[in-house]
Amino acid sequence: MAKNRAPEKGKISYLLIFIISIALCLSMGTAAFMFINDYLDEYKTNHIALHVPFVVLVSISTFIIFFLLGIIFNRITIERTYIKELKNFKDFTDSIHNAQTEREVYERMYEFICRTVSVNNITLFYKNTIPVEGMDISVENPWQRIGHEKVPLCNMSPRSCPVIRTGRECRIASIQNGIKCAYQLNEYKHGSYVCLTIVSIDSPQSVLQLYSQYENEFDDALIQKIKSYTEIAKTLIKSRREISTLDKTSKYDNVTKVYNRGYFIDYLKKQVDRALSSKESLSIMILDIDFFKRINDNYGHFAGDHVLALFAKLVVKEVRVTDLVARYGGEEFVVVLPSTEIGIAYDIAERVRQTVEKAYMPPYGDIDIPSISCSIGVSALPLYSDNKDDLIKTADLALYQAKREGRNRTKVYDKTMAMIQKE
Ligand code: GH3
Ligand code: MG
Ligand code: MG
Repeated sequence: MAKNRAPEKGKISYLLIFIISIALCLSMGTAAFMFINDYLDEYKTNHIALHVPFVVLVSISTFIIFFLLGIIFNRITIERTYIKELKNFKDFTDSIHNAQTEREVYERMYEFICRTVSVNNITLFYKNTIPVEGMDISVENPWQRIGHEKVPLCNMSPRSCPVIRTGRECRIASIQNGIKCAYQLNEYKHGSYVCLTIVSIDSPQSVLQLYSQYENEFDDALIQKIKSYTEIAKTLIKSRREISTLDKTSKYDNVTKVYNRGYFIDYLKKQVDRALSSKESLSIMILDIDFFKRINDNYGHFAGDHVLALFAKLVVKEVRVTDLVARYGGEEFVVVLPSTEIGIAYDIAERVRQTVEKAYMPPYGDIDIPSISCSIGVSALPLYSDNKDDLIKTADLALYQAKREGRNRTKVYDKTMAMIQKE
């Protein structure tokens, strides 16, 4: 059996007010008739001319009083609902404006809609094209899901969903009688649902799916109410995305996707301050690809870029997640190793060097790439320096020594290196 839409809380229709008023008017009229009968009986009079006006007067005044009271009550309820919705809306805008990230905007919007729209299931699918730290900019499957429901409404893959493909909303007033979406699961035999898109520039960035066990739940008024939330969220999603993209592009190197020199310098400064105040060790290594110029000369600049990206990936894979890898410039990279003694840093550097030496270099298109090697200089704080510039300089001297000694090796800084450099 199909269930009809649940009545809205608080509101009474004018027809109902009219019916109640008529009912009260009839009862009061009957009571007035009985009263006047008894009263006239007492005085042994039976004057019909007194009956009619009295009963009519009582009935009409009862009807007018209750009808007016009903209307006033209805007005107050509507007014209160309106004020409550305005407050809700203000709370929503305040909350959403405080969201720092795109995901947070989606989460807050979702929670708000769940609180203010009483339906059975709400699911939000959203597209996340923002690069994740340490990952390629192109995310394989960018669609994420937010929802509380135990059984999903549909089993669609976002790529093939008609709502996402066309950007048009889908509204099913009655699952039993309407034409339903091909992806809707059979568990949902009754009720109604709607899939609304949040469109940004050219393609939908998210789809909000709402299901109700009642038929015809999603009328224009309710859809407009939901859309007033999603429209506000849309603007913020766009701005948070722009900020995030800007933040990422200013942090990362385009070719290798590791951090860039600017970010490394800021990070190192903070780590040096932290290490000095907590009296912990801080190591860094500088890595330089050996004879890299030959790769450019023999295979071209693009193949050179390809090797830089492969090299960066190898380094990221070999070091710990707490270590920071950055491109220092050209074919030189740095790794910052917080809370790491020089001996440990040397072991990690050696592991990286050996991995690079043994690594298979996948071809660049149809160009076969030869294996490569790298030289590494290691230094640490507070052992060899007490500031970031000296830390970089000493690691660089160690790298220079590794190159001098024939390349493809790791050297730890020692004081004699500064003398060699001066010679
Ligand atoms: P060494 O073993 O002494 O380090 O020799 P090398 O050839 O690696 O060093 P050199 O400094 O002679 O050459 C570095 C080369 O790196 C020269 C420059 O054209 C190339 N290079 C710098 N930045 C990039 C880049 O972004 N892409 C590519 N493809 N090449 C780059
Ligand atoms: Mg170099
Ligand atoms: Mg080099």
